[in-house]
Amino acid sequence: MVYQADIQRYHKMTWHRCGHSGLKLPAVSLGLWHNFGDSSCADNGRDLLRHAFDNGITHFDLANNYGPPPGSAEENFGRVLRADFASYRDELIISSKAGYTMWEGPYGDWGSRKYLIASLNQSLKRMGVEYVDIFYHHRPDPETPLEETMTALDHLVRQGKALYVGLSNYPAELAATAIALLKGLGTPCLIHQPRYSMFHRAPEEALLDVLAQSGVGSIAFSPLAGGILTDRYLDGIPQDSRAASGSRFLSSEQLTPEKMDKVRRLNALAVQRGQKLSQMALAWVLRDRRVTSVLIGASKTSQIDDAIHMLANRDFTAHELEKIESILG
Ligand code: NDP
Repeated sequence: MVYQADIQRYHKMTWHRCGHSGLKLPAVSLGLWHNFGDSSCADNGRDLLRHAFDNGITHFDLANNYGPPPGSAEENFGRVLRADFASYRDELIISSKAGYTMWEGPYGDWGSRKYLIASLNQSLKRMGVEYVDIFYHHRPDPETPLEETMTALDHLVRQGKALYVGLSNYPAELAATAIALLKGLGTPCLIHQPRYSMFHRAPEEALLDVLAQSGVGSIAFSPLAGGILTDRYLDGIPQDSRAASGSRFLSSEQLTPEKMDKVRRLNALAVQRGQKLSQMALAWVLRDRRVTSVLIGASKTSQIDDAIHMLANRDFTAHELEKIESILG
């Protein structure tokens, strides 16, 4: 059956302007790091994408290396795009990135002009699109001159292969320098993508200030700490969870008794607020108006529903915020 997007979709989402740009992003965005590679169920991936879009999630975040195997998330996304979303391309914000190992040899990694330009060309082919909306440098490269990397991003925008550019995993000071370089080139940095959650608060130290002062938006990745900040692991490790999948990014060792004690106390507070822990964790990231969007992952459509329903209860009392601080210690 031909997919028809839910006509109510734009009423279900909240929109935030990305920094000082003209672009608005949904408060909740969906990342394709997990659950969209060739080792995942293609039908489930398609359901997740349709469900997200039906709920007003217009922003899908990819990278050259998402899979496994690397590249397969972009290929699978491209299939759904052609089959279901072809007539909705102008309603979508598609991002990709380069910066981690993608192919063998010295030109398939880090931040050279050679790598970035070749990688985006490959990503466009895999997804079957003429341009991405946002292209990120995925991580800082300690060897390549920052000027070279930023000039390559600017070049890709001028070629029409990316509409906007962003940085990811750049620490505050380096981000400030990169943002200034991009501004000088006439291609302002749209957005920064840092890890930010109740359990990873480094952006609060300086990065969010730098971004706010420069008019750059931010999209918080892994806002649920990969699923730890949910009710998923309250009673052990479910078979179908990320922690049970052998992921090197979320192992059972990370679910320490100390961490799980905090999770239980946070969960009790979420219940008092009349919401799930996952929803409180997302609302907490969005409490900071410098954050444009939370970039979630999902393995089930119900997880997308949880994130969307969070939008109806995203404010905190001062007392609740203090309580959260005391739990996080
Ligand atoms: P999250 O912290 O949102 O974790 C997502 C996982 O949490 C899901 O896959 C699911 O795990 C679990 N989950 C989600 N919602 C619920 C719920 N309501 N109840 C219970 N469990 C839930 O984000 P990710 O770590 O997946 O990262 C999100 C995106 O961020 C990535 O797809 C990618 O686009 C981006 N990213 C960027 C990076 C960068 O360097 N720039 C690095 C990492 C991510 P389960 O599978 O167990 O169901």
